[in-house]
Amino acid sequence: MDAVKQLEQTNLLGLDLEGLAAYCEQLGEKRFRATQLFRWIHQKGASDFAQMSDLAKSLRDKLATRAHVAALPVISEHVSADGTIKWLFDVGNGDAVEAVYIPESDRGTLCISSQAGCAVGCRFCSTGHQGFSRNLATWEIIAQLWYAEHSLRKRQNTDERIISNVVMMGMGEPLQNYTALVPALKMMLDDHGYGLSRRRVTVSTSGVVPMIDRLREDCPVALAVSLHAPVDPLRDQLVPLNKKYPISELLDACNRYLEKAPRDFITFEYCMLDEVNDTPELAHTLVKLLKHHVSCKINLIPFNPFPASGLKRSSNERVKAFAQILVDAGIVTTVRKTRGDDIDAACGQLAGEVQDRTRAHIRMVRAPVVVKAPTTSQT
Ligand code: SF4
Repeated sequence: MDAVKQLEQTNLLGLDLEGLAAYCEQLGEKRFRATQLFRWIHQKGASDFAQMSDLAKSLRDKLATRAHVAALPVISEHVSADGTIKWLFDVGNGDAVEAVYIPESDRGTLCISSQAGCAVGCRFCSTGHQGFSRNLATWEIIAQLWYAEHSLRKRQNTDERIISNVVMMGMGEPLQNYTALVPALKMMLDDHGYGLSRRRVTVSTSGVVPMIDRLREDCPVALAVSLHAPVDPLRDQLVPLNKKYPISELLDACNRYLEKAPRDFITFEYCMLDEVNDTPELAHTLVKLLKHHVSCKINLIPFNPFPASGLKRSSNERVKAFAQILVDAGIVTTVRKTRGDDIDAACGQLAGEVQDRTRAHIRMVRAPVVVKAPTTSQT
């Protein structure tokens, strides 16, 4: 098929069930045909309409000329010694995004990207240092799951579902790509699609307060918030979006979200940076901030250093001491296991390739390194 024809065609990976039903109507077909088509694509991984044996031949012929199921080209695949797999997908014009599959005994988690790059520019994040190119379309978000699920099934020679959890924690701030994100989430949750439980789909945000409120109404799934500091002056430096939506506003939004969330807690992510945010004083400040204010769990993340950050990973002893203060205060705290670090697939290491349109990579390298934090409480 020539390139011009491909461009005119609708990529069905971008349509949730509602969108696909509307598309079938446009073709003069009954809406229920969409359910069959959706199952073929997402549950069976089919991309060839000729294979879809329970669809009328006339519909298959129409689809063959007007639509396609087009995956993202895979640039590379790396498999870690611990079974973690990282794919680099080509999203065109020199941009590439990453997705990571993390197998565990009781689940299979896929971490996927929502943007090529990221405009938030968190200090400790390699994606943030690369700057921002563009939002991914719905089909580019879902294509990561579609490819991972069906390629894993093929290699494991099974028809059983492999990916049980999806975390929107790859490249990008998902809530800054909201209109593409929501249909993708709906496809993950749809029983005719991937059938994932709301509790097992997690959106991770750096704190885009108005969009947290919208997500609560439109498609509440599990929420993780990149907190990384319990006081505004420090969080302003680590997560620049904090200047727009400071901690108190963020926590209020978290409480509103909990009214409709599928889990009764918010997960706060806290990347442990040596002598920046890992002091016992800040642990106590964090306890004061969260305890009795937001139902939560805290996930301490070992920092994965990269040269441009100018930051260092906290020692195991410091992480342990920090965690102990939280645990002693009755806050459920976990320390994230590092997975796939031999293939640069650990948290904060996803870099892909980004044509930076924001010149963030230049600004951030020149900015001074974060200094030791003030310890004033927010409350
Ligand atoms: S941590 Fe998330 S929001 Fe912050 S720069 Fe990285 S990808 Fe963007």
